[in-house]
Amino acid sequence: MYPRVNIHLEKYRHNVDHLVNVFHTNLMSIMAVSKVFCADDMLIEVLNESDVDFIADSRIDNLKKMKTSKPKVLLCLPQMSEAKDVVLHTDISLNSEIEVIRVLNEEARQLERLHSIILMFDVGDLREGIFYTTHYLPIIKEILELDSIVLKGIGTNLTCFGGVIPNKETSYKIQKIKHTIESAFQIKLEIISGGNSSSLELLFNHQHPYEINNLRIGEALVLGRETAYGKQIDNMHDDVFTLEAEIIEVKDKPSMPEGVLGMDAFGKPVNFTDRGMMCRAILACGKQNVDCHDLIAPEGVEILGCSSDHLIVNVSQNTFKLGDKMIFKMKYGGILSLMTSPYVRKNYVR
Ligand SMILES: *Cc1c(COP(=O)(O)O)cnc(C)c1O
Repeated sequence: MYPRVNIHLEKYRHNVDHLVNVFHTNLMSIMAVSKVFCADDMLIEVLNESDVDFIADSRIDNLKKMKTSKPKVLLCLPQMSEAKDVVLHTDISLNSEIEVIRVLNEEARQLERLHSIILMFDVGDLREGIFYTTHYLPIIKEILELDSIVLKGIGTNLTCFGGVIPNKETSYKIQKIKHTIESAFQIKLEIISGGNSSSLELLFNHQHPYEINNLRIGEALVLGRETAYGKQIDNMHDDVFTLEAEIIEVKDKPSMPEGVLGMDAFGKPVNFTDRGMMCRAILACGKQNVDCHDLIAPEGVEILGCSSDHLIVNVSQNTFKLGDKMIFKMKYGGILSLMTSPYVRKNYVR
């Protein structure tokens, strides 16, 4: 049945083992992030068999169903309304609001458990976290006094909203927060979680400060690329996930629509250039499954566009026939939407 997403388990295993090795050689721990593949059981099993230190996901539902003995980390700031589930189903959560931390403390006490948190600081990307210039020591003091919360460490997130690239300056801000907290309260913070796949370039170039001893990695494990500059990482696979779709029409047609032009199926104005006749194929896979801008066309194929249920490609440079299957590599957003779509079959390749 097509469209289907081919999931190459051994390629994922290779990517995981490769990066785990890099991290452990640098005396760092790694959180493998499973949100892009909705914590798929088979891929979680690969992580279970690996030496990753933590498994992290942004959704409590994914963490709830996840079968693992690795520590589970909730990446997204907890909603106050889900505090009980957070304590029940995760070992560590990332937090930035003392009010939420108080609620987590209450829930943890009632469940007679300890809940660990990583306190998030915003060093300029302007997504989650206490802004680094804030007077934060009173917050730390209160957290340390809570009886059922463990302050496991601090963290920051970069290159997500503001596009801020990790460098010496962003690292310095985090190092400074760590030193300030540790000396003010005479404690040792166990985890300093410096960022995501966008911090890998610093790590590979040996410019990563030793104080930052953890990263949370999703994209690099599935696409084999760092995300500060979008560079492919040596010795990692970019095709753990591929989309395979079937051709339902192949015809020679003009490149320019004929008639009075209005809008496309999504109400957007259209824009075409006349390139003469071309051999066009239609694949049975549309925006309902994946946006065509998130697909990477195979050699000699050009993606022309898509509607809800159709993907239209130029195959003039190739020989495809009706019923053939075409395989696409994908960008991050493509994997995310295909793994979330109930209309796409999952084909595990060993
Ligand atoms: C998604 C997410 C990550 C992983 O980011 P990648 O770029 O996929 O490595 C890390 N931290 C947080 C808080 C996230 O939400």
